[in-house]
Amino acid sequence: MVNDFPQALTIAGTDSGGGAGVMADIKTMQENHVFAAAVVVAVTAQNTIGVTDFMAMPTKLIDEQFQAVAEDLKIRAVKTGMLADSQSVKTVVANLQKYDFGPLTVDPVMIAKGGARLLAEDAIATVRDELLPLATILTPNLPEAEVLTEMHIRDEATMQLAGHRLQELGAKNVIVKGGHETSDTANDFVLLENGESFWVSAPRVETNRTHGTGDTLSSAITAELAKGADVKTAIQRAKRYVSATIANGIEVGHGHGPLNHWA
Ligand code: PLP
Repeated sequence: MVNDFPQALTIAGTDSGGGAGVMADIKTMQENHVFAAAVVVAVTAQNTIGVTDFMAMPTKLIDEQFQAVAEDLKIRAVKTGMLADSQSVKTVVANLQKYDFGPLTVDPVMIAKGGARLLAEDAIATVRDELLPLATILTPNLPEAEVLTEMHIRDEATMQLAGHRLQELGAKNVIVKGGHETSDTANDFVLLENGESFWVSAPRVETNRTHGTGDTLSSAITAELAKGADVKTAIQRAKRYVSATIANGIEVGHGHGPLNHWA
């Protein structure tokens, strides 16, 4: 059938070092047998050591990328990653309302592991109030969940509470990622639209090659959704994929190295 190969879209920022952002998204979708398209919202100068600079794309160029993709491709699932500032978030929201790209995974990227701020402080409210209600799946890590809910998350009970708060804010399904905790497993709390909740766990791997982990999880979920998986299956498969990419990290760069997408 014409134009029927599974196609997914990432709306995010680039990483010149190749490990995170749009680059990680495309590698992940590709490895999961989905054709990847990309709307670049911001360009970063970074490597495995850190982010040195970034710039958001002009609104007109973001709009035109959306139009180009929508006119030609048949996107079945979409994700957002780094959105840089409030203006870009608003532009992305307007385009997501204009075009039907299927289920939306929102990775509310805020601060890189090296400490660089990838979302302007004043854009947090825009993400919470305008983007989050469009999310089929929201994938915050603990610091992002804390910022969005204005809660202090200390244990599994407060992680669950944060998941429910995020659902109240409008996200249909939520995965609160516990990878920033210190236990010997990485436990993520999943709350589905129908109220079902469960934990997905993976052994914690002692490694500094975790650059782009969040991007990879949200892209793997998006790829599964593009292939027609249900939300629960997509999350479980994506978590397994990410665990394998971390466990088999590759020696690239001098800092927080990238994941192994061939794993
Ligand atoms: N750069 C871009 C463009 C990203 O989207 C992200 C994460 O979402 C990062 C950097 C940060 O990656 P990490 O925190 O895994 O180092």
